[in-house]
Amino acid sequence: MKVTVWNENRHEKENPKVLENYPGGIHGYLANMLACDDIEVRTATLDQEECGLTKEIVEDTDVMLWWGHGAHEQVPDEIVDRVYEAVMRGMGLIVLHSAHHSKIFKKLCGTTCHLKWRGGARERIWTVKPNHPIAAGVDETFVLDPEEMYGEPFDIPNPDELIFMGWFNGGEVFRSGCTFTRGNGKIFYFQPGHEINTAFQNENVQKIIKNAVRWACPIKKNIELSCPHFQPLEKTE
Ligand code: ZN
Repeated sequence: MKVTVWNENRHEKENPKVLENYPGGIHGYLANMLACDDIEVRTATLDQEECGLTKEIVEDTDVMLWWGHGAHEQVPDEIVDRVYEAVMRGMGLIVLHSAHHSKIFKKLCGTTCHLKWRGGARERIWTVKPNHPIAAGVDETFVLDPEEMYGEPFDIPNPDELIFMGWFNGGEVFRSGCTFTRGNGKIFYFQPGHEINTAFQNENVQKIIKNAVRWACPIKKNIELSCPHFQPLEKTE
């Protein structure tokens, strides 16, 4: 399986705390976490040529992870379209934390993807679909302290499946882990992962991301998209 971890990689350059939590940046940390015998991982970042997402790299990716925050608008539409087409052709996409506002997630959802937010909260996550492959081996409930509060209403289309619910100590709730299908591609949105916290070090969070990558991996990728005029296979008169 070939995985590409995309990160905006801007907070890493401005706030030493991010690199302290995540040596190698969020992209490097996640790549290191995911790499194993049957998963080949590469990273790509905003400041690389073509955002690190050349046609060749995108076509050679089974599952892409996306972390972005303050620079969503700096990703050229042409790159967003390239990733979008890859999802339509079967590539899996894992959308992390503040990437709820990324151009690619908004394009796939067709909604604003707005939510409520506040720094420095305590979150309790509940596994609400324990028999889902993304929840395999994950505790029924676990705490992230601190984690940024993300609250409902979260303006997304109805997810195919809701797997994790978050509750925050300000009383807010959030659909923290949910799946969508677009074209031939599987998409998982997962809420934890504020850059100055340590959610990606959490054992349950790591398990969820690893499970999600395997769940989103297509049986077949780069399925050609077409809309042909079609002759009948049977006699119709
Ligand atoms: Zn955040």
